[in-house]
Amino acid sequence: MSYVNNRLLILLCFLMLSISIRAEQPLSDIPRFSLSEAYQNVGMVNYSVITEKEEQQAVFDFFSGRNHWSIVEAFNGDLAYQPGINLMAFQIINDSNLRQSAFITLKNQVRISNVELLYLGDNNELVLLPFTQQANNTLKVELSLSAKEAVNVLLRLKSASHLRSSLLIYNQSGFIESTHVANFKLGLGLGGIFCLTFALLLLYLAIKKHTVLLLFGYLLCRTLTLSAILGLNLYYLFPQYNSLRGIEVPLLVAISTIILLLFTVRVFKLKELNNQLHQYVQWVIWLFTSFLPISLFTPVYIDVTAVMIMHSFTIIFLAAIGFYLYRLRERLALLFSAIMVVKLMSMLVIIVATNWVDIGMAQYKTTIYITIFWIDAFLLTFILSRQYFYQVQDKETAQKEALANAKVSETTQEQLLTLQQENQEVLEQRVQERTLELNIALQELEEVNQELERKNILDELTGLHNRRFYDQKILAEYRRSKRNLTPLSLVVIDIDHFKRVNDDYGHLAGDQCLVWLSGHIKQCLKRNSDLAFRYGGEEFCLILPETDSQGAFSLAESLRENIAKQAFLYQELSLPVTISCGVCTYQQQKGVQPEHIFAGADKALYTAKRSGRNQTQEHRLVEIESEDNQQAIT
Ligand code: GH3
Ligand code: MG
Ligand code: MG
Repeated sequence: MSYVNNRLLILLCFLMLSISIRAEQPLSDIPRFSLSEAYQNVGMVNYSVITEKEEQQAVFDFFSGRNHWSIVEAFNGDLAYQPGINLMAFQIINDSNLRQSAFITLKNQVRISNVELLYLGDNNELVLLPFTQQANNTLKVELSLSAKEAVNVLLRLKSASHLRSSLLIYNQSGFIESTHVANFKLGLGLGGIFCLTFALLLLYLAIKKHTVLLLFGYLLCRTLTLSAILGLNLYYLFPQYNSLRGIEVPLLVAISTIILLLFTVRVFKLKELNNQLHQYVQWVIWLFTSFLPISLFTPVYIDVTAVMIMHSFTIIFLAAIGFYLYRLRERLALLFSAIMVVKLMSMLVIIVATNWVDIGMAQYKTTIYITIFWIDAFLLTFILSRQYFYQVQDKETAQKEALANAKVSETTQEQLLTLQQENQEVLEQRVQERTLELNIALQELEEVNQELERKNILDELTGLHNRRFYDQKILAEYRRSKRNLTPLSLVVIDIDHFKRVNDDYGHLAGDQCLVWLSGHIKQCLKRNSDLAFRYGGEEFCLILPETDSQGAFSLAESLRENIAKQAFLYQELSLPVTISCGVCTYQQQKGVQPEHIFAGADKALYTAKRSGRNQTQEHRLVEIESEDNQQAIT
């Protein structure tokens, strides 16, 4: 109780003593409230706004039965107060035969101060009861009335400005019930929003997202603000410090606005979307930040007014940002904008109802506050959750797309691989085919070559080796003979009077005779190293390596005899054929060349012809001096 009030009390007590006789007079035109009803709204009172000096007179007049105050009606429950001292007069009547208490309650506001109840006590002394604050932000005073007692009371309060607040008078049961209801509402309202706040804290600890932390901070501020508005505030905890009354509300509103701005920036990535707008938001944040320290030095009710104005404009600003983002087709921006509009509207309604116009929401004010805070908290949480959901969805879509792309590329790669394999197979097959063809061609070539080679060294008619091969062979055998020191024999064969065969039976007969003789020549050769040649027309030649003259002679003789014994059969004609043979053997005679050997054999053949044919002659080689070489050949 302030110093002024103490002084007033003493002064009034003194006054009362002097007017005690007249105080018994009834007061006719003040509202009367009976305690038989659970509660009654003080809807019509006499009141006055007066200076301190006038107040003393007014109080004196009231208790002495002189009452000429104006009457103000409060139809819907919220009583209007003027700036300054307000006095409200009414009578409380206890109809019952029992002692009863009247409970007079007043919704507390920061701008209301010095609320007291004045009445005349038993000894006609002025009793002054101070109001105390309850947990649900209600100021309360209890007045005890004896049976059938009626008490005239004055309610005195000081208001910092025009404002409205409900004034209610309860009996005991009504008061208990209203307290229960109020506490239930308080528990539910604060409990609900607190649970959500706590859940967000847990969510932040789980997923460590800054937006969640910001929303948690915002909701924490809002919870504390609601708590302060509903009565669970610092002043309730420390009622001895009057300066704490409502001090947290402007601070909390400012901080929550800052966090809401940061939250908006984060959730909608404002910096990336519009840097200029982001700059403006930063300025607003600085405005609120600088308000915080300043507010500590200014009266609380001014801070409240200032912060409410700033907050309202910020909400309009945020609603505009939301609408702008909606135009940019940002998801959830319209909802955000709508939340801001609802916030603003509800705030304006409360401001108007608390200050100026009685719109009949006195007993719903707590419910309205809770509803507004809940809608705000739940919708903002919904926005965050939805935004998070969209992010996850976007991520999922991106992942699905990436997966689909990967699959497509995988399929393409597989197709490419299959194609490559097929190509490889085709290629390999082709290579195999070509290789086979090449091999066949090579083989054919080889065969042709062999055939050519064979043809090159064979005589076509007789199948014996030809003259060309003889020239190669005789040289090779001569060298081998020289190297190995082995004898080398040569036999030259000529058909006797062959001309006659041709002349008598034709060239075809002659040719067949040559073939026939060749067959016999082949048969007579016993060693693999022995070779037979058709040297000229009807002249044949045998190279007999490692065969001495004796061996060669006997071989030639046995052939000659064999031919002489048989006859050549031509077209059922038996034609006797004989041959003459010349033998010559090289046995390392000095200076002898292959030509010398053949010349020797030819000489021997000539001798055989001259000596009557059908015989074998031998020519013995002698050593040849180098100058005689040429001679020996001829
Ligand atoms: P000789 O040797 O006993 O002195 O008498 P000749 O009749 O056989 O005489 P010569 O050896 O000179 O024979 C050559 C004849 O051989 C000439 C030709 O009519 C015949 N003649 C040579 N080559 C061939 C041939 O390839 N086919 C046939 N049918 N006759 C040939
Ligand atoms: Mg001849
Ligand atoms: Mg002949």
